[in-house]
Amino acid sequence: MVLAFWEVKLGYLLGKTMRCIFCKLDSANSTSVEHIIPESLWNTKQILPRGVVCDKCNNYFSRKVERQFLCSPEMESLRFHQAIPSKKGRVPPIMGAMLGSEVPISIRRVLSSEEIVTSIELNEDQVELVRSGQSSKVNFPIASGIPTAKITSRFLAKVALEALAQRLLPHYGGVDYVVEEEQFDLVREHARYGRVKEWPYYVRRIYDADLDEKIHGLDGQKVHEYDFLHTDHGEFYFVLALYGVELTINIGGPCIEGYETWLKENDNASPLYWGKNAEG
Ligand SMILES: [Zn+2]
Repeated sequence: MVLAFWEVKLGYLLGKTMRCIFCKLDSANSTSVEHIIPESLWNTKQILPRGVVCDKCNNYFSRKVERQFLCSPEMESLRFHQAIPSKKGRVPPIMGAMLGSEVPISIRRVLSSEEIVTSIELNEDQVELVRSGQSSKVNFPIASGIPTAKITSRFLAKVALEALAQRLLPHYGGVDYVVEEEQFDLVREHARYGRVKEWPYYVRRIYDADLDEKIHGLDGQKVHEYDFLHTDHGEFYFVLALYGVELTINIGGPCIEGYETWLKENDNASPLYWGKNAEG
């Protein structure tokens, strides 16, 4: 018995035992690295080494969570505005509304090698509204507020746990802590198995995707950034921004009211540009 114990302990110390942060099963033989943000959102840097997420979970997320997330209302809107094509080269169309008309309008974008062509199809009534000068504006709202789209919520849960593992990776035993800590079990199971029916998150635009360079003085667009927020009330949030759209999820449980309170108390600042992240 004593020998067995020491064998296990030695294997652990030598790093032979490795467990997946989602299913908690042995992942020592896994071969794939995990992209925290999907590769198709231009991520080549935020990557977890092999074994932090096992091959089976890696494969599952790619097929059942990330692919669907890219088709969520928030992402379809972003992909349209930024003209991000799918692997098949198709930019999703977006639905808008014209003032004075009940009929929704679909706008399409087609990418060629030289330009982005945007086209709108109007019905006869809508053409008449434009012709008579009564209306020529079309509104395209981005999804905002507190949606509960399950796939976005599960995607956020996945990215949150992976970002946490990434943060703790340099610390001895850091990834094991993520695997073993029971307070992460709910968010883990939500991401991997979708066991929580509704896990709300908070969505808003914090900077214009196209104006980002002017605002932050950065080279080019900021496609994605993320960080964690510990509130004075002991809550732990994960905050992700994609093209200036901020998505926030509570890592501790399916409830977002605490973040709304935090926003009120902090003049609607974004945790990504607040406190230690504030400029100057
Ligand atoms: Zn796994």
